[in-house]
Amino acid sequence: MNNPGIQAEFQRAYSASVQYSAQLDMVEWTEQKRVLSAKTSAKAGPWQWYRVPFLFEPYMAWSGYDIRELVIVGCTQFGKSTFSENILGYTVDQDPAPILLVMPNENQAKERIQTRIKPMLEDNGWFLEHLGGDINKLNVDRATEFDSCLMFLAWAGSAATLGDRPIGRLIVDEAKDMPRQTGGNQADAVSLARNRARTYQSRSKLLVVSSPTDDYSLINREHEAGDKREGKVPCRYCCAYQVPIFGNVELVPAPDTDEPSLPAYVCPHCRRPWSEGDRMAAVAKIIYMPEGSDVFAETGDFEDLPDARAVALWTHRDEFEIRGSGDDRIIRHLNIRIENPPATRAKEVSWRVPAMLLHTEFQTISGLWDKHQKAEKARAMGETELIQDFTNNELAEVWNEAEIKIEEEMLTQRQDAYRTGDIPDEAKIITAGIDMQADHVYCSVWGWGYGFETWLGDFQRLETGDTKLIENWAPVMMLLEKWDQIRKIDLILGDYSYNPDAMLAFCVAMSGRWLIEPVQGVDWQRTLVTRGTIGGSADKKKKRRRRKDVGLPLHRISAGDFKDRFSRMIEIERPGPGRVHLPADTTDEFKHQFASEYKHVSYKAGRARKDWITKTRHRPNHYWDTGIYALAAAEIRGVRNIPDPEKEPVRKKVKLSDLRPKR
Ligand SMILES: [Zn+2]
Repeated sequence: MNNPGIQAEFQRAYSASVQYSAQLDMVEWTEQKRVLSAKTSAKAGPWQWYRVPFLFEPYMAWSGYDIRELVIVGCTQFGKSTFSENILGYTVDQDPAPILLVMPNENQAKERIQTRIKPMLEDNGWFLEHLGGDINKLNVDRATEFDSCLMFLAWAGSAATLGDRPIGRLIVDEAKDMPRQTGGNQADAVSLARNRARTYQSRSKLLVVSSPTDDYSLINREHEAGDKREGKVPCRYCCAYQVPIFGNVELVPAPDTDEPSLPAYVCPHCRRPWSEGDRMAAVAKIIYMPEGSDVFAETGDFEDLPDARAVALWTHRDEFEIRGSGDDRIIRHLNIRIENPPATRAKEVSWRVPAMLLHTEFQTISGLWDKHQKAEKARAMGETELIQDFTNNELAEVWNEAEIKIEEEMLTQRQDAYRTGDIPDEAKIITAGIDMQADHVYCSVWGWGYGFETWLGDFQRLETGDTKLIENWAPVMMLLEKWDQIRKIDLILGDYSYNPDAMLAFCVAMSGRWLIEPVQGVDWQRTLVTRGTIGGSADKKKKRRRRKDVGLPLHRISAGDFKDRFSRMIEIERPGPGRVHLPADTTDEFKHQFASEYKHVSYKAGRARKDWITKTRHRPNHYWDTGIYALAAAEIRGVRNIPDPEKEPVRKKVKLSDLRPKR
């Protein structure tokens, strides 16, 4: 130690280690140091733990000793971006180690720096000091050099940014947008990040955080690999611990008033509905239990049950272990009893944070109820986007794209007493679909009511002879003329793909008598229907020039989406929105063709690929296609605007005197 250079180096290292030895745990640190920026948070100001008691345990686990990998699947609003920022701040301020933030792509990575991390530095003076007081030292295109450690930025699919340097603190954010593999033999972003952590000389930490998608996603793989903790909260009235699932929310009549029923969470043990205050009191005492373990109250007094912070301290700082020994497998502490605790202490922990845990300031039960009602209504009409969004982003649960199969038996169950050639008055829009073959044409006619409720009015295989000759289409004209006498058809869509010239010739010849327009099904497209013109950009066929001036629209429809909807509608049993009605004289041949396809879902690199394919090769599916065109035609004609017949139109008469201010 005689070398003054080495001595100075040692001195510097020593004082640095003293200065930065983690003195505060992450919960204390947020309380003492963290201010939320008005630019990024709806609730700006000093950090308030009462809003997020469900995060005590994950935060404590991050700064605790044992747990190396943390995975959180959560609803959109639970504070995942803030968690990443707090880890960054805590690392720089208390627990220095090289830190790597991994985002799905370069843009999101840069945006995170600009819109979240920069405001955090600006509003937290201590943080900016670690950067020498100069916000311009925050880098997006290379490492940022804090006085205590380096911060790197990386994104999935970029092996270069994921690098091979050892990293001590890793955050993988928005993992739902990352593929399971980046192609070839390359590992996914989480695996690459994990490799960086393994080469770090001392204890490394990894956080993977996201809302979930489906079973095959990267985030779900990570969540499944952990110990899958669910938050249990005690009932204020009966002290029973329970996972507050959305399924326990129901309409509860308001007591002693004529007020309408309101949605409330109802305790499954004592059947008492919880007010929002009851729910907040319960969540403030949350205990996370790994799969297989359970917690019970050892007291009948709610006030004597431990709060979330006490439990998190017990399990993550005071080095108690929620761990059974011998045959006993029961732990009693803090007025609670834990049964069947895990036998080993977890190194990889995973949590689920559903919106049911959020503070009323961010999410109410009635707000969730309304969102769910809307999603269920859309699902009844065959649209699943909203319910998928609700499941992933509110319940924080996986949603799997289901294989769908229509069975002929189901179609038989949809047959009513009416016969072809008839459509009840509830149908407000009449449409038809035409599928052309070499010497015959398939056609079906459908009536549409509120919420896509539909009645099949007619279906025919018309023997025409060579369909290239316009004069051979007389049987089709006869069918349309017949329907002129019953109900005028609002829009007929004819398949354009089989023989564009023949279909166009028919559409043009019939113009003025019937509204017949060409349609082209594409597998999946972003919008349900795009309307081009023949010869325009949507018409990619050859011989484009010859059709240039036809002046007909060409509808390109997302056949996959319409097939999804029609098949889900067939599953609906009770009359009303979405129900499919078939006439009593529906033939087996119609049903055989209508049930010809099924939706196959396969997964590649963790992403779902959906295909509608015929159940057996070369099975005829023409009536199914005509139904899809008729459904698309109903969409084009505004089936969504048909009013709910059960709702009286609101026509309140307003008197002039009502408008004057009252005295
Ligand atoms: Zn209860």
